[in-house]
Amino acid sequence: MAGKRIVIVGGGAAGFFAAITCAEAAPGADVTILEKTARPLSKVKISGGGRCNVTHACFDPVELSGHYPRGERELRGPFAAFQPRDTIEWFRRRGVEMYTLPDGCLFPVTDSSQTIIDCFLGAAKAAGVKLRCNAGVESVARQGDGFVLQLAGGETLACEKLMLATGGCRVPAMGALAVQLGHTLIAPVPSLFTFHVDAPWVHELAGIVVEPVQAEVAGTNLSQTGIVLFTHWGFSGPVILQLSAWGARELARREYRFPLVLNWLPGKTPEQLHDELEARRAMFPAKYVVNTPIAPLTARLWQALVLAAGVGAQTRWADLSRAMRHNLARQLVRSEFSVIGKTLNKDEFVTCGGVKLSEVHFKTMQSRLCPNLYFAGELLDMDGLTGGFNFQAAWTTGWLAGNAMAAEL
Ligand SMILES: Cc1cc2nc3c(=O)[nH]c(=O)nc-3n(C[C@H](O)[C@H](O)[C@H](O)COP(=O)(O)OP(=O)(O)OC[C@H]3O[C@@H](n4cnc5c(N)ncnc54)[C@H](O)[C@@H]3O)c2cc1C
Repeated sequence: MAGKRIVIVGGGAAGFFAAITCAEAAPGADVTILEKTARPLSKVKISGGGRCNVTHACFDPVELSGHYPRGERELRGPFAAFQPRDTIEWFRRRGVEMYTLPDGCLFPVTDSSQTIIDCFLGAAKAAGVKLRCNAGVESVARQGDGFVLQLAGGETLACEKLMLATGGCRVPAMGALAVQLGHTLIAPVPSLFTFHVDAPWVHELAGIVVEPVQAEVAGTNLSQTGIVLFTHWGFSGPVILQLSAWGARELARREYRFPLVLNWLPGKTPEQLHDELEARRAMFPAKYVVNTPIAPLTARLWQALVLAAGVGAQTRWADLSRAMRHNLARQLVRSEFSVIGKTLNKDEFVTCGGVKLSEVHFKTMQSRLCPNLYFAGELLDMDGLTGGFNFQAAWTTGWLAGNAMAAEL
Protein backbone atom coordinates (compact mmCIF):
# COMPACT_ATOMS: atom_id res chain seq x y z
CA MET A 1 0.00 0.00 0.00
CA ALA A 2 2.97 2.31 0.57
CA GLY A 3 3.09 5.30 -1.71
CA LYS A 4 -0.58 5.36 -2.68
CA ARG A 5 -2.03 8.65 -1.61
CA ILE A 6 -5.71 8.96 -0.76
CA VAL A 7 -7.13 12.46 -0.70
CA ILE A 8 -10.50 13.31 0.78
CA VAL A 9 -11.79 16.72 -0.19
CA GLY A 10 -14.02 18.13 2.55
CA GLY A 11 -13.43 17.96 6.30
CA GLY A 12 -17.07 17.54 7.26
CA ALA A 13 -19.09 14.67 8.66
CA ALA A 14 -18.71 12.33 5.67
CA GLY A 15 -15.07 13.24 4.99
CA PHE A 16 -13.95 12.50 8.56
CA PHE A 17 -15.94 9.29 8.83
CA ALA A 18 -14.44 8.02 5.56
CA ALA A 19 -10.89 9.09 6.44
CA ILE A 20 -10.95 7.45 9.88
CA THR A 21 -12.57 4.27 8.51
CA CYS A 22 -9.99 4.02 5.72
CA ALA A 23 -6.96 4.75 7.91
CA GLU A 24 -8.12 2.30 10.60
CA ALA A 25 -8.82 -0.43 8.01
CA ALA A 26 -5.46 0.05 6.29
CA PRO A 27 -2.93 1.03 8.98
CA GLY A 28 -0.10 3.05 7.48
CA ALA A 29 -2.16 4.23 4.53
CA ASP A 30 -1.50 7.79 3.38
CA VAL A 31 -4.86 9.49 3.98
CA THR A 32 -5.20 13.27 3.79
CA ILE A 33 -8.26 15.44 4.38
CA LEU A 34 -8.23 18.78 2.55
CA GLU A 35 -10.58 21.27 4.20
CA LYS A 36 -11.28 24.63 2.60
CA THR A 37 -11.95 26.55 5.82
CA ALA A 38 -9.96 27.01 9.01
CA ARG A 39 -12.58 25.00 10.93
CA PRO A 40 -13.29 21.41 10.01
CA LEU A 41 -16.63 19.87 11.03
CA SER A 42 -18.26 23.29 11.28
CA LYS A 43 -21.70 21.89 10.43
CA VAL A 44 -21.35 19.23 13.09
CA LYS A 45 -20.61 22.06 15.51
CA ILE A 46 -23.88 23.92 14.83
CA SER A 47 -25.96 20.80 14.27
CA GLY A 48 -29.02 20.02 16.34
CA GLY A 49 -28.86 23.45 17.97
CA GLY A 50 -25.28 22.75 19.15
CA ARG A 51 -26.15 19.30 20.51
CA CYS A 52 -25.69 17.26 17.30
CA ASN A 53 -28.52 14.87 16.53
CA VAL A 54 -26.11 12.09 15.56
CA THR A 55 -28.58 9.51 14.27
CA HIS A 56 -32.08 8.10 14.72
CA ALA A 57 -33.32 5.04 16.58
CA CYS A 58 -34.62 3.32 13.45
CA PHE A 59 -32.90 -0.02 13.00
CA ASP A 60 -34.64 -1.58 10.03
CA PRO A 61 -32.78 -0.65 6.81
CA VAL A 62 -35.93 -0.54 4.69
CA GLU A 63 -37.89 1.53 7.21
CA LEU A 64 -34.85 3.77 7.69
CA SER A 65 -34.44 4.43 3.97
CA GLY A 66 -38.10 5.55 3.89
CA HIS A 67 -36.96 8.74 5.64
CA TYR A 68 -35.01 9.90 2.57
CA PRO A 69 -37.04 11.75 -0.07
CA ARG A 70 -33.98 11.49 -2.33
CA GLY A 71 -31.91 8.31 -2.03
CA GLU A 72 -34.56 6.00 -0.58
CA ARG A 73 -33.88 3.13 -3.00
CA GLU A 74 -30.11 3.57 -3.20
CA LEU A 75 -29.58 3.73 0.57
CA ARG A 76 -31.31 0.44 1.37
CA GLY A 77 -28.21 -1.64 0.60
CA PRO A 78 -25.79 0.70 2.38
CA PHE A 79 -28.00 0.70 5.49
CA ALA A 80 -27.94 -3.09 5.51
CA ALA A 81 -24.13 -2.72 5.84
CA PHE A 82 -23.91 0.21 8.28
CA GLN A 83 -26.95 1.57 10.10
CA PRO A 84 -27.79 3.54 13.28
CA ARG A 85 -26.99 0.55 15.51
CA ASP A 86 -23.48 0.52 14.02
CA THR A 87 -23.19 4.29 14.45
CA ILE A 88 -24.08 4.01 18.14
CA GLU A 89 -21.53 1.21 18.57
CA TRP A 90 -18.88 3.10 16.56
CA PHE A 91 -19.11 6.10 18.87
CA ARG A 92 -19.45 3.95 22.01
CA ARG A 93 -16.17 2.18 21.20
CA ARG A 94 -14.55 5.59 21.02
CA GLY A 95 -15.97 6.73 24.34
CA VAL A 96 -19.07 8.63 23.19
CA GLU A 97 -22.30 7.51 24.86
CA MET A 98 -25.66 8.65 23.55
CA TYR A 99 -29.21 8.97 24.77
CA THR A 100 -32.44 8.66 22.81
CA LEU A 101 -35.37 11.06 22.97
CA PRO A 102 -38.93 9.69 22.83
CA ASP A 103 -39.14 10.81 19.17
CA GLY A 104 -36.14 8.61 18.30
CA CYS A 105 -33.44 11.30 17.97
CA LEU A 106 -30.04 10.40 19.45
CA PHE A 107 -27.67 12.90 21.04
CA PRO A 108 -24.36 12.58 22.91
CA VAL A 109 -24.98 12.43 26.67
CA THR A 110 -22.89 15.60 27.03
CA ASP A 111 -25.53 17.43 24.92
CA SER A 112 -22.63 19.04 23.09
CA SER A 113 -21.63 18.67 19.44
CA GLN A 114 -18.05 19.36 20.54
CA THR A 115 -18.00 15.81 21.93
CA ILE A 116 -18.46 14.47 18.40
CA ILE A 117 -15.83 16.85 17.00
CA ASP A 118 -13.32 15.88 19.70
CA CYS A 119 -14.03 12.22 19.00
CA PHE A 120 -13.37 12.67 15.28
CA LEU A 121 -10.24 14.77 15.73
CA GLY A 122 -8.85 12.25 18.24
CA ALA A 123 -9.70 9.19 16.14
CA ALA A 124 -8.30 10.79 12.97
CA LYS A 125 -5.05 11.66 14.71
CA ALA A 126 -4.73 8.21 16.26
CA ALA A 127 -5.27 6.56 12.90
CA GLY A 128 -2.64 8.77 11.24
CA VAL A 129 -5.02 10.82 9.07
CA LYS A 130 -3.41 14.06 7.90
CA LEU A 131 -5.69 17.07 8.19
CA ARG A 132 -4.94 20.19 6.17
CA CYS A 133 -7.16 23.19 6.84
CA ASN A 134 -7.31 26.33 4.67
CA ALA A 135 -6.70 23.97 1.77
CA GLY A 136 -9.59 24.52 -0.63
CA VAL A 137 -9.45 22.52 -3.84
CA GLU A 138 -10.18 24.75 -6.81
CA SER A 139 -10.03 22.24 -9.65
CA VAL A 140 -9.27 18.62 -10.41
CA ALA A 141 -8.17 16.68 -13.48
CA ARG A 142 -7.41 13.07 -14.36
CA GLN A 143 -3.71 12.12 -14.38
CA GLY A 144 -3.22 8.54 -15.53
CA ASP A 145 -5.31 6.35 -13.20
CA GLY A 146 -5.16 9.03 -10.54
CA PHE A 147 -5.83 12.74 -10.12
CA VAL A 148 -4.11 16.07 -9.85
CA LEU A 149 -5.67 18.72 -7.66
CA GLN A 150 -5.20 22.47 -7.89
CA LEU A 151 -5.35 24.09 -4.46
CA ALA A 152 -6.16 27.70 -3.63
CA GLY A 153 -2.82 29.50 -3.57
CA GLY A 154 -1.47 27.64 -6.58
CA GLU A 155 -0.19 24.39 -5.02
CA THR A 156 -0.85 21.18 -6.96
CA LEU A 157 -1.26 17.79 -5.34
CA ALA A 158 -1.40 14.36 -6.98
CA CYS A 159 -3.21 11.32 -5.56
CA GLU A 160 -4.14 7.81 -6.62
CA LYS A 161 -7.54 7.76 -4.96
CA LEU A 162 -9.86 10.69 -4.47
CA MET A 163 -13.00 11.10 -2.43
CA LEU A 164 -15.26 14.11 -2.81
CA ALA A 165 -17.20 14.96 0.36
CA THR A 166 -17.70 18.67 -0.15
CA GLY A 167 -21.26 18.78 1.20
CA GLY A 168 -24.54 20.11 -0.18
CA CYS A 169 -24.35 22.25 -3.32
CA ARG A 170 -26.54 25.21 -2.45
CA VAL A 171 -25.39 26.62 -5.81
CA PRO A 172 -24.28 24.44 -8.74
CA ALA A 173 -20.71 25.84 -8.56
CA MET A 174 -20.28 23.94 -5.28
CA GLY A 175 -20.44 20.69 -7.24
CA ALA A 176 -17.83 21.82 -9.77
CA LEU A 177 -15.18 19.22 -8.84
CA ALA A 178 -17.57 16.34 -9.56
CA VAL A 179 -18.58 17.93 -12.86
CA GLN A 180 -14.93 18.37 -13.86
CA LEU A 181 -14.57 14.59 -13.54
CA GLY A 182 -17.54 13.93 -15.81
CA HIS A 183 -20.40 13.67 -13.31
CA THR A 184 -23.88 15.13 -13.66
CA LEU A 185 -25.21 17.49 -11.05
CA ILE A 186 -28.94 17.42 -10.36
CA ALA A 187 -29.91 21.09 -9.91
CA PRO A 188 -29.92 22.04 -6.22
CA VAL A 189 -32.97 23.35 -4.34
CA PRO A 190 -33.40 23.67 -0.56
CA SER A 191 -35.12 21.05 1.57
CA LEU A 192 -36.38 21.31 5.19
CA PHE A 193 -38.01 24.74 5.27
CA THR A 194 -41.02 26.31 6.95
CA PHE A 195 -44.00 27.96 5.24
CA HIS A 196 -45.07 31.62 5.24
CA VAL A 197 -48.82 32.21 4.99
CA ASP A 198 -50.66 35.50 4.55
CA ALA A 199 -53.27 34.96 7.31
CA PRO A 200 -52.66 37.43 10.19
CA TRP A 201 -54.67 35.29 12.64
CA VAL A 202 -52.11 32.51 12.19
CA HIS A 203 -49.23 34.84 13.13
CA GLU A 204 -51.08 35.83 16.30
CA LEU A 205 -51.04 32.21 17.49
CA ALA A 206 -47.21 31.96 17.18
CA GLY A 207 -45.85 29.36 19.61
CA ILE A 208 -48.94 27.11 19.66
CA VAL A 209 -48.31 23.44 18.91
CA VAL A 210 -51.15 21.29 17.54
CA GLU A 211 -51.21 17.53 17.17
CA PRO A 212 -52.39 15.69 15.18
CA VAL A 213 -52.92 17.78 12.08
CA GLN A 214 -53.17 16.46 8.55
CA ALA A 215 -51.48 18.81 6.07
CA GLU A 216 -51.59 18.60 2.30
CA VAL A 217 -50.51 20.67 -0.65
CA ALA A 218 -53.70 20.99 -2.71
CA GLY A 219 -53.44 19.56 -6.19
CA THR A 220 -50.53 17.22 -5.34
CA ASN A 221 -50.19 13.92 -3.51
CA LEU A 222 -48.07 15.62 -0.81
CA SER A 223 -49.72 14.85 2.54
CA GLN A 224 -48.40 14.32 6.09
CA THR A 225 -49.96 13.95 9.53
CA GLY A 226 -48.38 14.95 12.85
CA ILE A 227 -47.29 18.04 14.79
CA VAL A 228 -47.77 21.59 13.44
CA LEU A 229 -46.28 24.68 15.07
CA PHE A 230 -47.69 28.20 14.55
CA THR A 231 -44.96 30.80 13.92
CA HIS A 232 -44.83 34.58 13.51
CA TRP A 233 -44.93 34.11 9.73
CA GLY A 234 -46.88 30.90 9.21
CA PHE A 235 -46.37 27.24 10.00
CA SER A 236 -43.46 25.03 11.05
CA GLY A 237 -43.09 21.75 12.96
CA PRO A 238 -42.34 18.19 11.82
CA VAL A 239 -45.32 17.92 9.45
CA ILE A 240 -44.37 21.09 7.58
CA LEU A 241 -40.68 20.11 7.39
CA GLN A 242 -41.68 16.69 6.05
CA LEU A 243 -43.90 18.28 3.39
CA SER A 244 -41.04 20.62 2.45
CA ALA A 245 -38.65 17.68 2.10
CA TRP A 246 -40.92 15.41 0.08
CA GLY A 247 -42.08 18.35 -2.02
CA ALA A 248 -38.71 20.12 -2.31
CA ARG A 249 -38.68 20.06 -6.13
CA GLU A 250 -42.39 20.57 -6.70
CA LEU A 251 -42.56 23.51 -4.26
CA ALA A 252 -39.44 25.11 -5.80
CA ARG A 253 -41.13 24.80 -9.23
CA ARG A 254 -44.10 26.69 -7.76
CA GLU A 255 -41.68 29.32 -6.38
CA TYR A 256 -42.97 28.58 -2.87
CA ARG A 257 -46.48 29.86 -3.67
CA PHE A 258 -49.10 27.15 -3.32
CA PRO A 259 -52.35 26.28 -1.48
CA LEU A 260 -51.94 24.47 1.86
CA VAL A 261 -54.90 22.60 3.38
CA LEU A 262 -54.93 21.69 7.08
CA ASN A 263 -57.32 19.28 8.78
CA TRP A 264 -57.33 20.13 12.50
CA LEU A 265 -59.45 17.10 13.39
CA PRO A 266 -58.03 14.26 11.24
CA GLY A 267 -59.41 11.62 13.63
CA LYS A 268 -63.04 12.58 12.92
CA THR A 269 -65.15 11.69 9.89
CA PRO A 270 -67.31 14.51 8.38
CA GLU A 271 -70.40 12.67 9.77
CA GLN A 272 -68.97 12.61 13.31
CA LEU A 273 -68.14 16.29 13.05
CA HIS A 274 -71.61 17.12 11.77
CA ASP A 275 -73.18 15.15 14.66
CA GLU A 276 -70.94 16.88 17.16
CA LEU A 277 -71.86 20.36 15.93
CA GLU A 278 -75.57 19.39 16.06
CA ALA A 279 -75.17 18.00 19.59
CA ARG A 280 -73.54 21.24 20.71
CA ARG A 281 -76.40 23.26 19.30
CA ALA A 282 -78.84 21.15 21.31
CA MET A 283 -76.73 21.13 24.51
CA PHE A 284 -75.53 24.74 24.66
CA PRO A 285 -78.06 26.84 22.71
CA ALA A 286 -77.37 29.94 24.80
CA LYS A 287 -73.59 29.63 24.89
CA TYR A 288 -71.27 31.53 22.56
CA VAL A 289 -69.79 29.27 19.89
CA VAL A 290 -66.29 30.74 20.42
CA ASN A 291 -66.34 29.63 24.08
CA THR A 292 -67.23 25.95 23.58
CA PRO A 293 -64.41 24.14 21.78
CA ILE A 294 -64.59 20.65 20.33
CA ALA A 295 -61.96 18.34 21.85
CA PRO A 296 -59.04 18.03 21.39
CA LEU A 297 -58.77 21.61 20.08
CA THR A 298 -57.54 24.15 22.62
CA ALA A 299 -59.68 27.17 23.50
CA ARG A 300 -57.35 29.58 21.67
CA LEU A 301 -57.18 27.61 18.45
CA TRP A 302 -60.92 26.94 18.49
CA GLN A 303 -61.65 30.62 18.92
CA ALA A 304 -59.37 31.53 16.02
CA LEU A 305 -60.89 28.88 13.75
CA VAL A 306 -64.46 29.93 14.60
CA LEU A 307 -63.68 33.57 13.78
CA ALA A 308 -61.79 32.58 10.60
CA ALA A 309 -64.92 30.65 9.54
CA GLY A 310 -66.89 33.91 9.68
CA VAL A 311 -68.81 33.02 12.84
CA GLY A 312 -68.97 36.18 14.99
CA ALA A 313 -67.75 36.30 18.60
CA GLN A 314 -71.32 37.05 19.72
CA THR A 315 -72.91 34.13 17.87
CA ARG A 316 -74.66 31.59 20.14
CA TRP A 317 -75.08 27.96 19.16
CA ALA A 318 -78.83 28.45 18.74
CA ASP A 319 -78.15 31.17 16.16
CA LEU A 320 -75.65 29.17 14.13
CA SER A 321 -77.26 28.96 10.70
CA ARG A 322 -76.87 25.98 8.41
CA ALA A 323 -74.49 27.97 6.18
CA MET A 324 -72.37 28.97 9.19
CA ARG A 325 -72.27 25.38 10.39
CA HIS A 326 -71.10 24.34 6.97
CA ASN A 327 -68.36 27.03 6.98
CA LEU A 328 -67.25 26.06 10.46
CA ALA A 329 -67.07 22.35 9.62
CA ARG A 330 -65.05 23.18 6.52
CA GLN A 331 -62.70 25.41 8.52
CA LEU A 332 -62.11 22.57 10.98
CA VAL A 333 -61.27 19.90 8.42
CA ARG A 334 -60.17 21.88 5.35
CA SER A 335 -58.58 25.17 6.48
CA GLU A 336 -57.10 26.67 3.35
CA PHE A 337 -54.05 28.92 3.35
CA SER A 338 -52.00 30.59 0.63
CA VAL A 339 -48.32 29.84 1.16
CA ILE A 340 -46.35 32.85 -0.07
CA GLY A 341 -42.76 31.96 0.77
CA LYS A 342 -40.42 29.93 2.92
CA THR A 343 -37.68 30.17 5.56
CA LEU A 344 -34.96 27.57 5.97
CA ASN A 345 -35.39 25.66 9.20
CA LYS A 346 -32.86 27.04 11.69
CA ASP A 347 -32.03 23.76 13.42
CA GLU A 348 -31.31 21.68 10.34
CA PHE A 349 -31.44 22.16 6.61
CA VAL A 350 -30.06 20.29 3.64
CA THR A 351 -29.85 20.58 -0.11
CA CYS A 352 -31.98 18.50 -2.43
CA GLY A 353 -29.89 17.82 -5.53
CA GLY A 354 -26.24 16.99 -6.13
CA VAL A 355 -24.31 14.25 -7.90
CA LYS A 356 -26.68 11.97 -9.81
CA LEU A 357 -27.12 8.75 -7.84
CA SER A 358 -27.17 6.42 -10.85
CA GLU A 359 -23.56 7.44 -11.55
CA VAL A 360 -22.34 5.94 -8.26
CA HIS A 361 -21.96 2.30 -7.06
CA PHE A 362 -23.72 2.21 -3.70
CA LYS A 363 -21.78 -0.85 -2.53
CA THR A 364 -18.47 1.01 -2.57
CA MET A 365 -19.49 4.65 -3.23
CA GLN A 366 -17.13 4.50 -6.20
CA SER A 367 -17.92 6.48 -9.34
CA ARG A 368 -19.33 4.45 -12.23
CA LEU A 369 -17.75 6.95 -14.62
CA CYS A 370 -14.31 7.61 -13.20
CA PRO A 371 -12.26 4.81 -11.57
CA ASN A 372 -10.64 5.60 -8.20
CA LEU A 373 -13.11 8.40 -7.52
CA TYR A 374 -15.46 8.05 -4.51
CA PHE A 375 -18.29 10.11 -3.05
CA ALA A 376 -19.95 10.44 0.35
CA GLY A 377 -22.41 12.69 2.13
CA GLU A 378 -24.63 15.50 1.04
CA LEU A 379 -22.75 16.20 -2.21
CA LEU A 380 -24.81 13.31 -3.57
CA ASP A 381 -28.42 13.84 -4.62
CA MET A 382 -29.71 12.33 -1.37
CA ASP A 383 -31.20 13.97 1.68
CA GLY A 384 -33.27 12.94 4.64
CA LEU A 385 -35.94 14.29 6.97
CA THR A 386 -34.93 16.00 10.23
CA GLY A 387 -34.02 13.75 13.15
CA GLY A 388 -30.44 12.56 12.57
CA PHE A 389 -31.09 11.00 9.17
CA ASN A 390 -28.78 13.33 7.28
CA PHE A 391 -25.79 12.54 9.47
CA GLN A 392 -26.63 8.83 9.26
CA ALA A 393 -26.39 9.03 5.47
CA ALA A 394 -23.00 10.78 5.83
CA TRP A 395 -21.71 8.12 8.27
CA THR A 396 -22.97 5.21 6.16
CA THR A 397 -21.66 6.45 2.82
CA GLY A 398 -18.38 7.59 4.43
CA TRP A 399 -17.96 4.18 6.03
CA LEU A 400 -18.57 2.35 2.74
CA ALA A 401 -16.19 4.61 0.80
CA GLY A 402 -13.49 4.44 3.50
CA ASN A 403 -13.57 0.64 3.57
CA ALA A 404 -13.66 0.36 -0.22
CA MET A 405 -10.65 2.65 -0.62
CA ALA A 406 -8.76 0.69 2.04
CA ALA A 407 -9.62 -2.64 0.39
CA GLU A 408 -8.27 -1.58 -2.96
CA LEU A 409 -4.88 -0.35 -1.75
C1 LIG B 1 -27.89 24.30 10.95
C2 LIG B 1 -27.81 22.84 10.58
C3 LIG B 1 -28.04 21.89 11.55
C4 LIG B 1 -28.00 20.52 11.21
N1 LIG B 1 -28.25 19.60 12.18
C5 LIG B 1 -28.28 18.29 11.87
C6 LIG B 1 -28.51 17.30 12.85
O1 LIG B 1 -28.62 17.60 14.05
N2 LIG B 1 -28.58 15.99 12.44
C7 LIG B 1 -28.41 15.62 11.13
O2 LIG B 1 -28.50 14.43 10.84
N3 LIG B 1 -28.12 16.54 10.20
C8 LIG B 1 -28.04 17.85 10.52
N4 LIG B 1 -27.77 18.78 9.56
C9 LIG B 1 -27.41 18.30 8.21
C10 LIG B 1 -25.94 17.84 8.24
O3 LIG B 1 -25.15 18.84 8.86
C11 LIG B 1 -25.40 17.58 6.84
O4 LIG B 1 -26.26 16.70 6.16
C12 LIG B 1 -24.00 16.96 6.95
O5 LIG B 1 -23.13 17.88 7.57
C13 LIG B 1 -23.45 16.60 5.57
O6 LIG B 1 -22.13 16.16 5.75
P1 LIG B 1 -21.06 16.34 4.58
O7 LIG B 1 -19.77 15.86 5.13
O8 LIG B 1 -21.58 15.74 3.34
O9 LIG B 1 -20.99 17.90 4.32
P2 LIG B 1 -20.46 19.04 5.29
O10 LIG B 1 -20.63 18.66 6.71
O11 LIG B 1 -21.13 20.28 4.79
O12 LIG B 1 -18.90 19.10 5.01
C14 LIG B 1 -18.38 19.49 3.76
C15 LIG B 1 -17.02 20.11 4.01
O13 LIG B 1 -16.34 20.28 2.76
C16 LIG B 1 -15.67 21.50 2.77
N5 LIG B 1 -15.43 21.88 1.36
C17 LIG B 1 -16.37 22.25 0.44
N6 LIG B 1 -15.78 22.49 -0.75
C18 LIG B 1 -14.47 22.26 -0.57
C19 LIG B 1 -13.34 22.35 -1.44
N7 LIG B 1 -13.46 22.71 -2.73
N8 LIG B 1 -12.12 22.06 -0.94
C20 LIG B 1 -11.97 21.67 0.35
N9 LIG B 1 -12.99 21.58 1.22
C21 LIG B 1 -14.23 21.87 0.76
C22 LIG B 1 -16.59 22.43 3.53
O14 LIG B 1 -15.89 23.56 4.03
C23 LIG B 1 -17.09 21.49 4.63
O15 LIG B 1 -16.27 21.54 5.77
C24 LIG B 1 -27.75 20.13 9.88
C25 LIG B 1 -27.51 21.10 8.90
C26 LIG B 1 -27.53 22.43 9.25
C27 LIG B 1 -27.26 23.46 8.18
